[in-house]
Amino acid sequence: IALANTGVQKLQPYQPGKPIEELERELGITDIVKLASNESPLGPSPRALAAIRGQLENLHRYPDGSGYRLKAALGERLGVRASQISLGNGSNDLLELVARAWLRPDDEVVFSEHAFAVYPLVTLACSARPVAVPARDYGHDLPAMAEAITERTRIVFIANPNNPTGTWISAADLDHFLARVPKQVLVVLDEAYFEYVEESAYPDGISRLTAHPNLIVTRTFSKMYGLSGLRVGYAISSLDIAEVLNRVRQPFNCNSLALVAAEAALDDHDYLEYARDLNATGLAQVAEGLEQLQLDYIPSVGNFIAFDCGRESMPVYEALLREGVIVRPIGGYGMPNHLRVSIGLPEENERFLEALAQVLG
Ligand code: PMP
Repeated sequence: IALANTGVQKLQPYQPGKPIEELERELGITDIVKLASNESPLGPSPRALAAIRGQLENLHRYPDGSGYRLKAALGERLGVRASQISLGNGSNDLLELVARAWLRPDDEVVFSEHAFAVYPLVTLACSARPVAVPARDYGHDLPAMAEAITERTRIVFIANPNNPTGTWISAADLDHFLARVPKQVLVVLDEAYFEYVEESAYPDGISRLTAHPNLIVTRTFSKMYGLSGLRVGYAISSLDIAEVLNRVRQPFNCNSLALVAAEAALDDHDYLEYARDLNATGLAQVAEGLEQLQLDYIPSVGNFIAFDCGRESMPVYEALLREGVIVRPIGGYGMPNHLRVSIGLPEENERFLEALAQVLG
């Protein structure tokens, strides 16, 4: 069957990390460490698990398609109206909904080189044109991105912090950029790793919504909240934008276990504090280990670090796999010598560093 959509013709499928079970079978070992998908190493919050158990007997019912309780809880927490919030099957769902609602064929979508892989994916799926702006020190070059906006530009995607580089944008730089973007261009500020960032100059996108009605902030329960497997994310925007997203989403795009788990996790302050501290310690541990191995890495504020192998990274990735450590090659992000490693538990970080030392000789 011929593909009429020229964008889909150009698309490569998103490459997920290798399943642990497959690798265990291949290698004949069982103590595999997976540091490949920027997941929480802690497991879900105990409160989320309890909420899921309580919800199991309702699985014969459809979820609350309005997400009433979770939106109310998020609205209260974030200081916005519940009707400004859109829920998604992961925040990826929201990135796709924005593209689907606003893009026409040949519209342009601006994002940074080395930015999150889903931006070109959702752009091409709509037959729109991805415009990747060269990065500066691996991070977003916002002045160059502002320059790249034309009358065909409909959406700008910004990840703050960015995956896979871990770089971040300051409040001053973001405000300067937002002031330059024409009002008819949507700015999607992807804050998937928001909860990890402790820098005082790191901006909160939500506080810019009133001044910039063309802004959409996305966040997720997949990272610090430890609920990647349930797929739940959200967008905060003007009421007008939320109303459009509500038109194009699938009626039950957030499942019932995800809804109750997210609501419970939101209140698990002890878990969240522990997760943040554990990540900060782990980041320092991995950074120090990489320094000892004399490897360059990109300073990161997320729950992962990208480092330069000093040679093509694919053979290093494969050798690490044979040691039972799964990391993420990021050649597809235009970084063929880098690998990205997620921050795990201290002993997992140690396993990774030892395996890396072994592999690099
Ligand atoms: N944005 C960024 C920058 C990410 O790294 C990720 C996860 N890899 C997502 C969005 C999507 O996460 P999810 O769909 O699980 O919410």
